[in-house]
Amino acid sequence: MTITETVIGVLVIAAVVVVPLVVIQVLGERKRARVIAHLRTLACPRCHSTYGETTVIRVSRRSWDPAPGYYVAQLDLPDPSYFVTCPGCAEELEYYGDGRLFELPDEGSESDGDFLR
Ligand SMILES: [Zn+2]
Repeated sequence: MTITETVIGVLVIAAVVVVPLVVIQVLGERKRARVIAHLRTLACPRCHSTYGETTVIRVSRRSWDPAPGYYVAQLDLPDPSYFVTCPGCAEELEYYGDGRLFELPDEGSESDGDFLR
């Protein structure tokens, strides 16, 4: 095997590894942009102001800590979470990627979040 063949082999392997990663990243960014565009059209459930184009939205993966016997997937926890800061009331609310509002149950209620530690 010549040096040229070795270099070509390394480049092909690098392309096989890198191209799918780039595609996955681009698709993820497109999805986040679509979700953010959708969230900007919603109204704040607290003060009923429409969020609008200038609303601050940050995307974050929370580190959920399910109680023993529970899994993140079965608990329908947002992953990632979209944190929207309302320009009307300044409250930061958490949304799923499909636009649903996520709220942890209030402590002391019947379902007081005891599925999380
Ligand atoms: Zn609001």
